[in-house]
Amino acid sequence: MRAKIVAGNWKMNKTISESTTLVNELIEALDGVELVNTEVIVAPTFVNLQACQLLAEKSPISIAAQNMHQKLSGAFTGEISAPMLLDIGVKHVILGHSERREYFGESDALLAEKVKTALDSKLVPIFCFGEVLEERKSGKHFEVVSEQITTALFDLDKESWKDIILAYEPVWAIGTGETASPEQAQEIHAHVRQLIADKYDADMADEVSILYGGSVKPANAKEIFSQTDVDGGLIGGAALKADDFTAIVKAI
Ligand code: PEP
Repeated sequence: MRAKIVAGNWKMNKTISESTTLVNELIEALDGVELVNTEVIVAPTFVNLQACQLLAEKSPISIAAQNMHQKLSGAFTGEISAPMLLDIGVKHVILGHSERREYFGESDALLAEKVKTALDSKLVPIFCFGEVLEERKSGKHFEVVSEQITTALFDLDKESWKDIILAYEPVWAIGTGETASPEQAQEIHAHVRQLIADKYDADMADEVSILYGGSVKPANAKEIFSQTDVDGGLIGGAALKADDFTAIVKAI
């Protein structure tokens, strides 16, 4: 059975004391909550990862990084590598978030390298993809997501797919308050699952967790999560408050 996952992307928010406070609040709020086949992941900024990881170690919460470099080491000033993340106990890394694509020029070709490095290093990539507003308006969204998935992920062997989480994040729904309707999310998720089934096989495709991200809140989480091919959410704004994020976890 594929896992259900709620992941919080804290982006460039929260100091170390604010981050550790939030992790502690989440640990407390989730104490006693039955998480059947459900993973809870949060992604603080790099400098706060280790402190959060130490706090979360014996809790149901996993700590993820928001990015990493495609090379394992070297002269790449300001960057962070997969071995550095693993060394502090981090097991997941968000790759290809639309903000990385838009502001830092990350292409699917580069992301193919990053995904490969993450997998080779035994980190689980949370691979983000999704169309921008103009692409949605001109009806190109299926084509765009197919291209993103194909270029970044279809050189991987079938075995690697056991360790990949996908996150469909229509860019027009990120931080805008505008959510894709549950039907819009479902049709893209089903499309991506079919794409994977066609390239590899249906049983394998059925095991891949595909999260939805884009203005998920406590008020809309249940309806979005109820869709057959939506296996959870990648949450931005609403992940910054323990009450909201906990409510979203409980909606899964
Ligand atoms: C995100 O940035 O991954 C995201 C989904 O943000 P928000 O929930 O704020 O739209």
